[in-house]
Amino acid sequence: MEGKDLKTLIKNYMEYRKEYYEKNKELFAKLAEEGQKPKVFFITCSDSRVVPSIITKGDPGDLFVLRVIGNFVPPHESALEYSGVASAIEYAVSVLEVEHIIVCGHSQCGACKALYQDIPEDPEMMAIKKWLKVAEPVKEYVLKEIGNKTVDKEKLAELTEKTSIKFQIKNLMTYPGVKRRVENGELSIHGWYFNIRTGEIEYYDQERDTFIPLEQYKG
Ligand SMILES: [Zn+2]
Repeated sequence: MEGKDLKTLIKNYMEYRKEYYEKNKELFAKLAEEGQKPKVFFITCSDSRVVPSIITKGDPGDLFVLRVIGNFVPPHESALEYSGVASAIEYAVSVLEVEHIIVCGHSQCGACKALYQDIPEDPEMMAIKKWLKVAEPVKEYVLKEIGNKTVDKEKLAELTEKTSIKFQIKNLMTYPGVKRRVENGELSIHGWYFNIRTGEIEYYDQERDTFIPLEQYKG
C-alpha cells in the first residue's frame, strides 16, 4: 500500500505542532533541559509498517530506538564491521543504562524472506548481501528444524522471523556491557513478535521456549 506523499506529511507536521506539541510543551522543554533517560531500548526492523511509538503509545523520551533491516544484531566479534548497530547498543546499555532491551521482529519481514533468495552480485546490493549474512545461522537452524517436513511459505516465514528474534537475543548477549548488566540483574532482554495484520504482539517466553500473547506477560 502506498504511503502518504511528502506534502501530506508536511501538512501533518504542522498539525502536530499545533496539537501534540502544544499539549506536551512542558515535556519537550524538560527533555531538552534534563536530557533523555529512557528505560527501554527498542530494536526493530526498518519496515515502515512497524512503528514503535504507536504500538507502545510511547511519548518522546520513552524509547531509545534502533531500526535496522531485519532487526538483526551482529555478534560482538564483528561489531566493528557493523559499528552503527554496535554503537547504538553500547550507548543505550552503558551510557543511558536502559533497564530493558526489546528486540521486536515482525510478520511479513522482507529481510527474513530475503534469506531464502539469491541476492545478485550487484554493486547496488553489496551492503544488503553482506548484512543478510548476519542472519545466515537463523536460516541454517530453521532448515535443519524443518528437515524433510513440508511447510508452506507462511509457516516458513513465521518460523524464520521468530527464530531470528531468539538468535538476535543471543547475539546481544555477546556484547560485554549487555552481558555484565544482565548478569547483575540491571538489564532484561525481551523478544517481541509484532503481527502486522492483527496488530497483536507475542513475547518470547525463554523458559517455555515459545511465543505467548503479550497480554499474558507477568514480568
Ligand atoms: Zn522486517
